[in-house]
Amino acid sequence: MIAEIISIGTELLLGQITDTNRPYIAQKLSQFGIDSYHQSIVGDNYERMLAEITVANRRSDLVIMIGGLGPTEDDLTKSVAADFLQQPLVDDADALNKVVDWHQTTGVPMAESNKLQAKYINGGQAIKNDVGFAVGSYYQNPDGADFLLLPGPPWELEPMVDKYVLPLFQANYLQNQVMRSLVLRYYGIGESRLETELRPLIDAQTNPTIATYAKKHEVTVRLTSQAETEAEADALNEALATKINEVGGEYLYGYDDDNSLAAVTNQAIQDHDFTVSVADNFTGGRVFATLNPLASEAGTYQAVTLPQIPVTDTKTATVLNETVAAEQASDIVLSITPDADNSELAIDDTAYHTEKVWFSITLADHTQTFERTLARDHASNTESAQFIALDILRRTALNLPLLERK
Ligand code: ATP
Ligand code: MG
Repeated sequence: MIAEIISIGTELLLGQITDTNRPYIAQKLSQFGIDSYHQSIVGDNYERMLAEITVANRRSDLVIMIGGLGPTEDDLTKSVAADFLQQPLVDDADALNKVVDWHQTTGVPMAESNKLQAKYINGGQAIKNDVGFAVGSYYQNPDGADFLLLPGPPWELEPMVDKYVLPLFQANYLQNQVMRSLVLRYYGIGESRLETELRPLIDAQTNPTIATYAKKHEVTVRLTSQAETEAEADALNEALATKINEVGGEYLYGYDDDNSLAAVTNQAIQDHDFTVSVADNFTGGRVFATLNPLASEAGTYQAVTLPQIPVTDTKTATVLNETVAAEQASDIVLSITPDADNSELAIDDTAYHTEKVWFSITLADHTQTFERTLARDHASNTESAQFIALDILRRTALNLPLLERK
C-alpha cells in the first residue's frame, strides 16, 4: 500500500506559509504502516495539478490532495480531480444546507461558487467537515489510485483526518486490523499546558496515536489505536488514558465526541437525585437555561432570585448564598454574582473588560465561595462564567475538590 501526498497552494511554493498538513498526514500514514514514497507541492494551476496527479496515479495506490477546496477562483482541486477521474462533482446535501443556512442566518450574500464547497466526486463519498464548510472527497478508483481530497486550513484538516479519514484507511487498507478511538474531555486546563504535560507521551506515541484539540472552553484528546480485535485496541487506548490521567486527570470531566460539560454535570445531579437552585445575576440565566431541559424526576433545577445586595467580598457572597439556601428546600444552591465594582456592560459590547464574578455553592450546610476575574469581552466572560458554574456544580455533586484558582 503506497500513498502519495500533494499539497496544493502557490503560497506554499513561495514559502509564505509552512506546510504543516503534509507532515501531519505523513506521520499518520507511517504510524499505520502505509508507505509514502513521494510527496510534493504544486501551485494553484490547473495544468500543473493535472500533470502531478497523472504521475501520482501511476505510481501510488492512494493520492491525497490537500488544499484548494474553498470557494475562490484559485480553488481548483475538486475540478482537477473530477476531470481526471472523468466524474462530475455532486452535492452533499448536509454540507449544502450548512452553507446555505449560514448565509441566510448571517445575511451575508452567497456567491454561486460557495456551493462548490459542498461538492464531492460522484461515485465516491463526502468527508464531513465539522469545523468549516468545505467537505472532503474520497473516491475509490477501480482503474487506478484512490483519491482523497482534504481542505487546507489545519484546524479543519486535523480533526477530519483523525475522526473520519483514519477509519476510512482502516476499513479499506488495513485489513485484519481494527481501529478504535477514545476521546477524553478536559475542562479547566489550556491546550498548551496539557500538551506540555503530555509531551513525553506524545513524543513516544506510536500505537495509540495522541491528538489534542483546543475548543473554546475545553480541550479534547483523541487516542486512536489499531489491533487485531476491538477489545485489544480498546485496551491499548485505556492503558494510555490511564497514563494521561496521571497527569491531567484532575481536569478530566468526561469521554466521547458527543458529550459536554453540561451533560456530565446534569448526569451527576441526576445520579444523586439532587434538587438544585440557581441564583444567577451574571450570565442572564444561561446556567439554568442550559441545565433545565436536561432535568428528570430524579434531579431538578429551579431559577431563584438573589437579594440585590452589593457583593465585593467572600463574606457577603457567602451570606447571600446561605440566605437563599435557608429559604429554599433544594439540596444545592449555587449563586453567580457580579462584583459590585464591575461596570454595567451590554452583551454586544465587544471591547475587553475585566469583570470580577463571585461564585458560591451550598450543599448540606457547607458553603464554598470564591471569585474569578474574567478579562475578555462581556459575551465571552458570560460564557466563561457559565462553564465555571457548571464545573462547580459537577464537582460539588461528585464530592470532588473545586479547581484551584486559574
Ligand atoms: P478555504 O476554504 O479556507 O479556502 P482550502 O481548502 O481552499 O480552504 P487553501 O485555500 O488551500 O485551502 O488554504 C487555506 C488556508 O489554509 C491557507 O491560507 C493556509 O493558512 C492554510 N493552509 C493551506 N494549506 C496548508 C498546508 N499544507 N499547511 C499548513 N497550512 C495550510
Ligand atoms: Mg482556498
